[in-house]
Amino acid sequence: MYDLAVRNAWIYDGAGNPPTKGDVGVREGKIAAVRHLGKGEASRSIDAGGLSLCPGFIDMHNHVDMAVLGLPFMESHTMQGVTTSLTGNCGISMAPLADATREQARSYILPFIPPELESDWSWRGFGEFLGKVEKTGIGHNIAGLVGQGSIRVAVKGFDPSPATDEEMSAMKLLLRRSLEDGAFGLSSGLIYPPGSFTSDSELEELASVLSDYGALYTTHMRSEGSMLIESVEATIELGRKCRVPVEISHHKAANRNNWGKMHRTLRLMELAREEGVDVCCDVYPYTASSTTISAMLPNFALEGGLESALKRLSNPDDRGRMKAHFQIAASGCTNSFDKTKFENTLICTSPDHPEYEGKTVMALISAHARRDEPYEAFFDILLEMRCNATMASFCMDRDEMEFGAAHHLSSVISDAWATSPALGGRPHPRAYGTFPRFLSHFAIDTSLLSLEEAIRKITSLPASRIGLSDRGAIKEGCWADLVLFDPQTLRDKATFDDPHQYPSGIEMVLVNGRVAVERGESGERRAGRVLRRGAR
Ligand SMILES: [Zn+2]
Repeated sequence: MYDLAVRNAWIYDGAGNPPTKGDVGVREGKIAAVRHLGKGEASRSIDAGGLSLCPGFIDMHNHVDMAVLGLPFMESHTMQGVTTSLTGNCGISMAPLADATREQARSYILPFIPPELESDWSWRGFGEFLGKVEKTGIGHNIAGLVGQGSIRVAVKGFDPSPATDEEMSAMKLLLRRSLEDGAFGLSSGLIYPPGSFTSDSELEELASVLSDYGALYTTHMRSEGSMLIESVEATIELGRKCRVPVEISHHKAANRNNWGKMHRTLRLMELAREEGVDVCCDVYPYTASSTTISAMLPNFALEGGLESALKRLSNPDDRGRMKAHFQIAASGCTNSFDKTKFENTLICTSPDHPEYEGKTVMALISAHARRDEPYEAFFDILLEMRCNATMASFCMDRDEMEFGAAHHLSSVISDAWATSPALGGRPHPRAYGTFPRFLSHFAIDTSLLSLEEAIRKITSLPASRIGLSDRGAIKEGCWADLVLFDPQTLRDKATFDDPHQYPSGIEMVLVNGRVAVERGESGERRAGRVLRRGAR
């Protein structure tokens, strides 16, 4: 007897095999049978009517942990078929926190958390945060990475100086404790402070700890543009030296003059794998990136944290230094002003100035009283928003993005934070659409990939990267994380103009054998589990 049976489906096993027609029986949250089941064998029977059934999507790069306590169902993710999220990416995790630097950590993460969803920030250790999430209950499974930046903030705030021996020991201890609490690895975000203040040797010392645990290192590299190839080489070298599996996060070639470089970087990864370095990457199926607006500022502007950055934005001397930084970066452009960069940057969320949402930075500068001094206008606008805003940057080439997302070494990911139609702002549409978009654009509407291969890249491949041996596949003994979808109607609907839209074609989502989504409506809202490395 099964708790639930899905009958008469085209079953994609997640391993990349062509589909087979059959039934799946679920008992006590797990897949108990994959075969033709007799009548009356299950408490609930779902006739799939020939639709497609695959493992639930595993999003190995996102930031849903930031708002999970206020938005536990994580609807933007769960409704598109995500059943497991790996969080804590880009060097930023919600834990560990230290009392002395808690406020600095909080103000840094704040742009990613809608004001109405903020929680009490009362936890300290990684395990304590996971416990709080578990107690709240979640819509799909969460596995966490611990952020190198968060560890560094806990030990020395946003102080850019190199770590002393004592600080290094404190950071390694926090990393070990987090791994023992269940973290699946370490993430770094080397464009963001304090990752941007961290030397390669400091990173290597931390990453070496991972090899004792067989845990993963993921990285938002120092450069995704002019120094992209060098950054990939450095990441591969770290994997080789520290003997850890490495994952290059949201791999891309940003800005027109770097387009084409991904052909070289993916080849470098293939060659490194032949030499025994376990390197892979992940890619999202959009040509715009999205992050906090403060990422536009030069590194030095963020020394000491966001409060210090706001002070610098008010100080004429510091403005002069920042302006010089931008002018050097834009030295090839007319009047040393990179208009294109500002034209290609869209404000997504800005709680203090919602009227800025959906406008480009260039449009805001053009409407500003100081438009004749564009950098001064830009700094004024950042101050008005208190840097509490997120942006999208249209910086990638479509063909190259497709090449990267279709490559056999890449998992496809969202890089999104959790949101909901009830919230304002104009988040990047990837928050709602990534996985249906990937399947429909890459495998159903085009033949960039077979559907079974596309499914592999969002199920068993990320599961094996994270180290989840009992998820990401339809086979007996695996957790019953399943998505039933209609290939005829599967479409992402979210756009930059109207992002808060669920996709079509996701008929049912099972999380640990429980129905979390059924015909576009939410079902059980707490079916997810907190996953811990090494736990069964
Ligand atoms: Zn990132």
